[in-house]
Amino acid sequence: MKYQIIAGIILSLGAALSVGSWHYLKRYENQVIGSEVASQSHNIAKVIKVQLTEQVQSLKRMAKRWEYNNGTPFDQWLFDAMNFMTYEQAYHSLAWVDKYNQIQWVAPIRQVSEVKKLLSEVSQYHNNALAQAKQSQTVAISQSLELAQDGKGFVVVLPLFPKGEFDGYLIGIFSFNQLMSVILETGHFDTPITMMEAGQIVYQQVPENTRVDQNMLQTKLPVFGRQWEIYNWPSQSVLSRSKSLLPAMVLTFGLCISFLLSFSFYFARQVERKKHELEMKNEELRLKNKEIANTQSQLVHSTKLASLGEMATGIAHELNQPLQVISMNAEMGPEFLAQNKTNRVVKSFTDIMQQVDRAQSIIKQLRCFGRDSAHDEHQSISSEELIKSSLMFLKRQFTSKNIEVRENIAPALPQIKCNKVQIEQVLLNLLVNARDAVENSEVKVVGIKAFQKDRRLLIEVYDSGSGIPSDAIDRIFDPFFTTKEVGKGTGLGLSISHAIIEQHGGDISVESEQGKGTQFLVQLPLN
Ligand code: ADP
Repeated sequence: MKYQIIAGIILSLGAALSVGSWHYLKRYENQVIGSEVASQSHNIAKVIKVQLTEQVQSLKRMAKRWEYNNGTPFDQWLFDAMNFMTYEQAYHSLAWVDKYNQIQWVAPIRQVSEVKKLLSEVSQYHNNALAQAKQSQTVAISQSLELAQDGKGFVVVLPLFPKGEFDGYLIGIFSFNQLMSVILETGHFDTPITMMEAGQIVYQQVPENTRVDQNMLQTKLPVFGRQWEIYNWPSQSVLSRSKSLLPAMVLTFGLCISFLLSFSFYFARQVERKKHELEMKNEELRLKNKEIANTQSQLVHSTKLASLGEMATGIAHELNQPLQVISMNAEMGPEFLAQNKTNRVVKSFTDIMQQVDRAQSIIKQLRCFGRDSAHDEHQSISSEELIKSSLMFLKRQFTSKNIEVRENIAPALPQIKCNKVQIEQVLLNLLVNARDAVENSEVKVVGIKAFQKDRRLLIEVYDSGSGIPSDAIDRIFDPFFTTKEVGKGTGLGLSISHAIIEQHGGDISVESEQGKGTQFLVQLPLN
C-alpha cells in the first residue's frame, strides 16, 4: 500500500516537473515572439508616421506654391495635382475648396462628382477638419470616412493663406488601403495588422489562420491631432522562427519518463513482494515436506510392524526347527556321557552351537527389519540375497497354504546399492498381496523373477490369483485403498512401496487380468 503511494508521488512529481518545464519554455517562447512583435509594431508605427508626414509634406509644398503665386490657375493646379498623385500613390484624390467651403476643383477630374458626393455625405467630419485647419492655420485630419470603392479613408486639410489672407483649403483624400499597402511594401512587413480609429476598423490585413487571441500587441499612434490604434500579431516567419517542438517534446518525454519511472518502481516493488511471498511459501512447503517425510517414515515403520505380524508364523517355524534340534541334542547329551561316547557328546554340542547360530541370525534379521530404517545409508548387497531373504520370511506360510512358489533368479546378477530393509519391505508386501490373491484360487502359484535389463535390476512378483478389477487398478497405489476385510488390510502397503521405489530412482508398475492373475514389476537402477 505504502509503495503505491510512493509510485503515485513519483508520477505526480514527474508530471508536475514536466508541465512546469513545458510552461516555462512556452512562456520564454511567447516572450521571444512578444518582443519580435513589439519591435515590428514599433517599426510599423514609425514608418506610418514618417510616410504620412512625407505625404502631407508634399501637400504642404503644393499649398506653399499656391500661397507664393497668390493662387494658381486651374491648368497649372491640375498638372501639379496629377503629378503629385502619380508620385505619392497613397492619395485617392485632391481638391481645392474655396473660402466659402465650396468644392471648386478636383483631381483627377473624373472623380469630381464622387468627391463632391463623398464630402457632402461626410460634411460634418469634413467641416470639422476645415474649421480646425482654418483656426489652427495648419494641417488637420478628419475622422475616418467611407470611400465609394476603396474602403475607409480620411481627409487631410491644409488652409491657404496667400498674402496672409484666407483663400480656402487644399484637400487631400487618402485611402487607408492605398496608404498602408505603400507603407507595408516600403517596410517589407508581413505581420498581420489591424488599424482602428474611434473604435472602428479602418484597415485590416489579418490572414485567416492568425490566432487573434495570441501575442497581440496594441500600439497607439497619434497623427496630426487624431489617435489611431495599431494591432499587430506575429507573422508566419516570426512564428516559424521562434516556435519550436522543444516544449511539446519536453512535456511528452517528461510525462512518459515519469510514467515509466513510477510504474517501474511499482512493478519492482510488486516483484519484490511476490518474491518475498514465494520465499515464505517455499519455506512453508519445505516444512510441510519435512513433515510429510517424517509421517511417511512413521507410516513405513508402522506398516512394517504390520508385516512383522504376518511373518510371525513363518518366524515361529524358523525358530522352532533349531530349538527342536537343540532340545534333541541336549536330551541325548547326558545319555552319551553315561555311555562314555565322548565323540557323540562333542557332536551334540557342535550341533547345538550351529542351531544357536541359526536362531541368532533369524532374530538378527527380524530385529533389523523391525527398527526404523528410513535414515539408513544405502549399502551394496547381492541382488540374489535380497530376493531370497525376502522370500525366506514367507516360505513357510506358502507351504502351509499349499501355494506353489516359483523362483527364477537369473545367474550372476550384479550387486545393488539400496536400503536393504526398505526393498525387502516392498518385496514382502508384494508377496503378501500375491498370497492373499491366490487364497481362493484353484491354481495357487506365486512367483518371483529377477533379471537385468540395461543398467536396471527388474524384479517381477506374479500370482495366479483373482486379479484386480479395472475400476480399482488406478487406485491401488492410493493410500488407504484396500479391498481386504477390516483388520487384515491397511491400504498402505502399495502406496509406501511406490514411495520407497521412487526414492531409489526406480519404478513400480502393475498388469492384471481378472480371474487370471497379476504381475507387479519393480525396476531399480543398478548404479
Ligand atoms: P492392503 O494389502 O493392506 O489392502 P495394499 O496397498 O498393499 O494394501 O493393496 C491395496 C489393494 O490392492 C489391495 O487391497 C488389493 O485390493 C489390491 N491388490 C494388491 N495386490 C494385489 C494382487 N496381487 N492381486 C489382486 N489384488 C491386489
